[in-house]
Amino acid sequence: MRVITTILEMVAERSRCASSKSVGFVPTMGFLHEGHLSLVRQGRKENEILTASIFVNPTQFGPHEDLESYPRDLPRDLQMLENLGVDIVFVPTTDEIYPPGFVTYVDPTGPLTMEAEGASRPGHFRGVATVVLKLFQIMQPHQAYFGQKDAQQVAVISRMVTDFDLPVKLRILSTIREADGLAMSSRNAYLDPAERAASSVLYRALQNGRMAFEAHVNTRSREGVSEVVKAMIGTVLKEPGAHLDYAEVRDPDSFMPLEATRAPALLLIAAKVGPARLIDNFLLRADGSWDTGIPVNQQ
Ligand code: AMP
Repeated sequence: MRVITTILEMVAERSRCASSKSVGFVPTMGFLHEGHLSLVRQGRKENEILTASIFVNPTQFGPHEDLESYPRDLPRDLQMLENLGVDIVFVPTTDEIYPPGFVTYVDPTGPLTMEAEGASRPGHFRGVATVVLKLFQIMQPHQAYFGQKDAQQVAVISRMVTDFDLPVKLRILSTIREADGLAMSSRNAYLDPAERAASSVLYRALQNGRMAFEAHVNTRSREGVSEVVKAMIGTVLKEPGAHLDYAEVRDPDSFMPLEATRAPALLLIAAKVGPARLIDNFLLRADGSWDTGIPVNQQ
């Protein structure tokens, strides 16, 4: 596995890849877990050359967020990627991606970036879109792998790929979960044992939301949507260790609030548990099937 730290070298290495070979790309912020590794394994199966990146992107963190404390373990991450057969990993410094004088950002607009995560984290998706476009330019992947765990990120990047005619196919994979349902996340490392126990409430809230959704799905009613939200909020309120940020039902592409219980739909939840802000979702696909994620031991 080649570990590359500069854009110049990365672009040169990429141009040495035979143009006939398919190139996959898995962007990450490191401190890898089974969620990341599921993307890497799938990418390995589907591409002749597999690339990944590790970069904690400062522009997607708000001024009072956890950029400084974000967990990092580069040697361990590189070993994991090497074990899974990654060919090239790009590990730039912040100055490499944002050199002095950097002024140009991708700024997605509208409800897609102003609501849900966008409302709680102003500027977050501007940082995400900017770094992902830069990484696509540098890595030139045919296919790029993202997790459904970050549903709004998926919607923003899909929209950017369409809007900018980017020649990349997005592969969106299911959320990998711990045995008790907690979505795997680098930020779970912030949780002490009591907080860790409380954090499974997000999954339980989504399960109760799904049940309420199914009970109202044929009515296609506006009241159905509020019953779903009520079920999610009620579940979180019973867990004193969790502090709800939002529980919502939205369209998975536009992120507009749903007016009725119809497919496709996204059940979204965000809550603070101790020092960690956690997000999760269930996706009801257009064909009526649910993507609720995969337990780590059933992959
Ligand atoms: P991050 O390092 O948090 O930026 O995540 C890198 C990629 O891994 C993103 O596409 C995430 O959506 C994805 N990811 C993070 N957690 C999970 C998970 N539990 N299951 C599947 N994908 C995930």
